[in-house]
Amino acid sequence: MNRVVASAPQLAGLHPYDPKYLPANAYLSANENPSDVDPDIRAQVDEAVHGIALNRYPDPLANDLRDLIAEANGLDRDWVLMGNGGDELLFDTALAWGGPGRTFLNLPPTFSVYEANARLTNTPVIDIPRLPDTFAIDEPRVLQAVSDPANNITFTIVTSPNNPTGLRARQEFILQLLDATDALVMVDEAYFEFSRETMRPYLEQHENLVILRTFSKAFSLAGVRIGYILAHPSVIREYCKVRQPYSVDAVSQAIACVVFRNRNAFEPAIQQIISERERLLAELRATPGIEPFPSDSNWVLFRMPDADEAWRHLYDRGILVRDFSSAALLEGTLRVTVGTSEQNDAFLSALRDFVLDKERGGSYGRAE
Ligand SMILES: *Cc1c(COP(=O)(O)O)cnc(C)c1O
Repeated sequence: MNRVVASAPQLAGLHPYDPKYLPANAYLSANENPSDVDPDIRAQVDEAVHGIALNRYPDPLANDLRDLIAEANGLDRDWVLMGNGGDELLFDTALAWGGPGRTFLNLPPTFSVYEANARLTNTPVIDIPRLPDTFAIDEPRVLQAVSDPANNITFTIVTSPNNPTGLRARQEFILQLLDATDALVMVDEAYFEFSRETMRPYLEQHENLVILRTFSKAFSLAGVRIGYILAHPSVIREYCKVRQPYSVDAVSQAIACVVFRNRNAFEPAIQQIISERERLLAELRATPGIEPFPSDSNWVLFRMPDADEAWRHLYDRGILVRDFSSAALLEGTLRVTVGTSEQNDAFLSALRDFVLDKERGGSYGRAE
């Protein structure tokens, strides 16, 4: 036969995830660390990778890595599970806690992967939008929604700091939420190294708390695909039932072990990103027409007139930022990842050119 039956009905209308990555001089669109791992650590990585038997299956649970992370968090290994990036663990969350007749509570605008995973697993979604202007969580509505048995909310994800809006969730609120429901509450801490706040101290008291972390942002390993969750062993066991047994390959395990052992060496770069973030915020605030949102993370979201044209203007000058100008609840916004100070300067000066030209009524932003 030269045709194929339709794919599963929940795929209708879904679009594959598109990071909108384009060739550029300055990649300020994906919240990556602007610096690769330093040469010293890189040499250790090369040595570790050199010794791997490529013909053998990896340790399915990545126990060496798991032990390192468990120890650093004061936990036993059965409280930790590694994944092929945080993204795999997000999908596993929907597989294990979602499904028809169960409900995912989403707090948009937030990471779009959550909703896509719910759809893929035929999980109904209840949206409680964040407050306009501040993007703060509508806390009373969330607490009320999870307390209503008719909603049958079985899991929710609180992103802290929230991507792409920038600020942390209040810990007092997360604790209220954990007490108000037995639904699984994942706290996505992909950027906690920049926000300096974690729910780890509350893990033992809340069986429904899952903390998600990644090596892709502060630890410069977006290309390697390693993430992990911290949760009660009873919860980890359920994740183990749905995960792909060999999703975390041997090379990634070895690289992540080296990087995690050397994690203190990343601290100066993290501090540098935090101080550059504050500089970007201050400079954006001082630019006419630009409304930046405060950030606890490694990017700044800002609203401006003609944001789509500004995106093009920046891109034509080799600077790639993330365009949310026509995304629901984010209209008119762009997100710039904190880069090196040179990249941030190039971004600021190109953006100022655009704004100045607009003020003069010129045509800078138009693609020639
Ligand atoms: C980047 C990111 C992740 C995880 O990314 P991986 O590269 O798959 O580890 C998870 N949540 C949010 C909000 C992110 O921005």
